[in-house]
Amino acid sequence: MTIRGATARPRLAVWKFASCDGCQLTLLNCEDELLLLADAVEIAHFTEASSAHVDGPYDLSLVEGSITTPADLERVQEIRRASRRLVSIGACATSGGIQALRNFADVGEFTSLVYARPEYIDTLARSTPISAHVPVDFELHGCPVDRRQLLEVVVAYLDGRTPRIPAETVCADCKRRGNVCVVVAHGQACLGPVTQSGCGALCPSCARGCYGCFGPAPGVNVGSLVGRLLENGMGEPDVVRILRTFTAEAPAFREEADTHDSRA
Ligand code: SF4
Ligand code: SF4
Repeated sequence: MTIRGATARPRLAVWKFASCDGCQLTLLNCEDELLLLADAVEIAHFTEASSAHVDGPYDLSLVEGSITTPADLERVQEIRRASRRLVSIGACATSGGIQALRNFADVGEFTSLVYARPEYIDTLARSTPISAHVPVDFELHGCPVDRRQLLEVVVAYLDGRTPRIPAETVCADCKRRGNVCVVVAHGQACLGPVTQSGCGALCPSCARGCYGCFGPAPGVNVGSLVGRLLENGMGEPDVVRILRTFTAEAPAFREEADTHDSRA
């Protein structure tokens, strides 16, 4: 890594792998804060915002998307080598994303059905998170990530401190908002008791159960919640489906889903 002048602004880079761009868009949606951020850092690579590119080293890399091609495997190693700090952002980057549904089927069968010339498709059999391939300094969950949490992570690393993202579940946000619980009042299924907070309990606030798109919160008991879902009449195939929607490769959801997949 080359040594840069002490007065240089920190270099921020935003990288994309297999993803829908929604998490990068969250950064562009920061509105008022975006101009302050653009003053505080040198935006060295951010294809969604600009075609300009500055070679590394980078002080902070934000990485969106999962690893799905042989070329991705090489590129993520290069990005890691060029980055002092690397933060993976969003469900794709932290747990394989919706495209990780391929991990439970035959990817060759998918490509033969979807593409007229599947022989041109160069893809891996599995969609995997960034942390499966390189060390990651922090994982920010969500689909997409939350704007306030994203700013907190960026500002924390610019300040040289650890990001303050509370390790609590959606239920905590839901209670703070004074929502009526959809499980108690309407008998709906809700993954809020095991899902990382950050969305502000968006779905329960619209009277529907949480879909778990922020993935499992640290230390939650997914098996206990699934036991209640089964008692309340949910079948094993539906248990597998709800755990394998947005964050299928997150270990706490994957292990529980695998248990019920073998029984379904
Ligand atoms: S985590 Fe969700 S919003 Fe972010 S890139 Fe992946 S699919 Fe899009
Ligand atoms: S609606 Fe869901 S997130 Fe809200 S309190 Fe009930 S179980 Fe928790």
